Amino acid sequence: MPDHPIKHAALLFAMQDEALPLIRRLELADKGPISPPMPMRWYDGAVGALRIDVVVMGADRRFGIDCIGTQPAAVATQLVIDKLDPDLLINAGTCGGFIKRGGEIGKVYLTGGPFNFHDRRIPLAPFEKYADGGWTLCDVDAWAQALGLEQGAVSSGNSLDMNDDDAARIERAGTIAKDMEAAAIAWVADQHEKPLCAVKAVTDLVDGPHPTHEEFERHLHTASDALSETLDKLLNYLADENRR
Ligand code: SAH
Repeated sequence: MPDHPIKHAALLFAMQDEALPLIRRLELADKGPISPPMPMRWYDGAVGALRIDVVVMGADRRFGIDCIGTQPAAVATQLVIDKLDPDLLINAGTCGGFIKRGGEIGKVYLTGGPFNFHDRRIPLAPFEKYADGGWTLCDVDAWAQALGLEQGAVSSGNSLDMNDDDAARIERAGTIAKDMEAAAIAWVADQHEKPLCAVKAVTDLVDGPHPTHEEFERHLHTASDALSETLDKLLNYLADENRR
């Protein structure tokens, strides 16, 4: 937890479509690439007394699509901390939800962890825990309660689908949100002792009957709108009293 009031929050998004509703809603200024030639894009603004930076992973120079996944997320986090030094990091984005844990399309979670990896298999005793991660980097109990949001474990990996072993790890951790960035961001945040929370909107139901990629595409805009609404509430809540 930050041991001083939060005056400056930085939000990290993987996809432009996830970030645009919030960028428009808060009328953030487009500052261009944060560290050329890297593709990450930077926007800034404020909510009341709270300074806001948004960094979006940007488009891959070779493949032309959003830089989703762990390595751009880790690089972006390092850049954000280096160049902007926020009091709080927020990983905002979409996720796969789980019907058996109350997940619904468009539902938004707020969580400070644990942030786990589910696709790093290193069966060498000292590396096993490192592979899984399990970082909890922010106490969001009061915030989640005030905003009526559920908390829980997030699990990250570099695939949109999952194999049986991924599924077993996800299940063991009681995961509520499956994504491709949060744990990578958590590793960097932890090295710098920066608090991190995640706000994740459900685009698809991992344990539902529909193929993930179809559901994802169908619900990306609905979920991103719900995400921006919740982020707006959270940022206003944090701005209100310069929360700790
Ligand atoms: N097919 C999409 C690619 C989206 S990949 C496209 O063409 O635009 C999924 C992105 O949303 C990642 O950044 C990830 O963090 C999040 N996500 C949403 N649902 C997910 C799921 N079920 N598993 C993993 N990541 C998911």
